Amino acid sequence: MIHPEQQRRAYLQAMGIDVWLPRGEEEPADEESRASPLPLEGLDWTELRDCVAGCTRCELSASRTNTVFGVGNEQADWLIIGEAPGAEEDRRGEPFVGRAGQLLDQMLLAIGQTRESVFIANILKCRPPHNRDPKPEEASACRDYLERQIELIQPKIVLAVGKIAAQNLLGSDDPVGRMRGRPHDLGGIPLVVTYHPAYLLRSPSQKNKSWSDLCLAKRLAAEASA
Ligand code: URA
Repeated sequence: MIHPEQQRRAYLQAMGIDVWLPRGEEEPADEESRASPLPLEGLDWTELRDCVAGCTRCELSASRTNTVFGVGNEQADWLIIGEAPGAEEDRRGEPFVGRAGQLLDQMLLAIGQTRESVFIANILKCRPPHNRDPKPEEASACRDYLERQIELIQPKIVLAVGKIAAQNLLGSDDPVGRMRGRPHDLGGIPLVVTYHPAYLLRSPSQKNKSWSDLCLAKRLAAEASA
């Protein structure tokens, strides 16, 4: 259960309102308070969305246009996790809306899913400038938003698309080639790694491997539903 005072502060934080604390109970300054954000346990979808929309946990909040919370079915069997918003996603506040997103949509259709039937999220909710890789401190500042989304969705299968998603979710340094093609476990939920659609656009010869990853994920999802 989230403490009512913590919840009040989470709302105020989400609304961009400074919280004044009695002398002696002040929050530690900037860097430290970023390292110990308020717990998200117990937040519902609306509260979580509000927290993300007002998030200032890392420096990406200063350069973003929109946070990209994620889209789709809040009770989806499939949770797709990518890396971070790009320029178009930052403008529109929606994940995977560029060319890579169109390919992701086609990949989903091939397994009988759509953008509306699955939930799509990213490791980061804000765009890293110039599409650089997420920094470890940004990924860890954002981590519990994704964890709360996973708790709320309770997906049957997680599909990690690309190196950044897979490495962050599995705590691994392995390349995608070594992580793909077999089931992993994410706190009791089966997880499959596959190539990022942006990579597949550059290397279409890898699409057959991605197809076999999708088939594996579909089989695991069916087993988890049985
Ligand atoms: N690439 C990602 O990993 N996520 C997006 O939302 C868009 C492109």
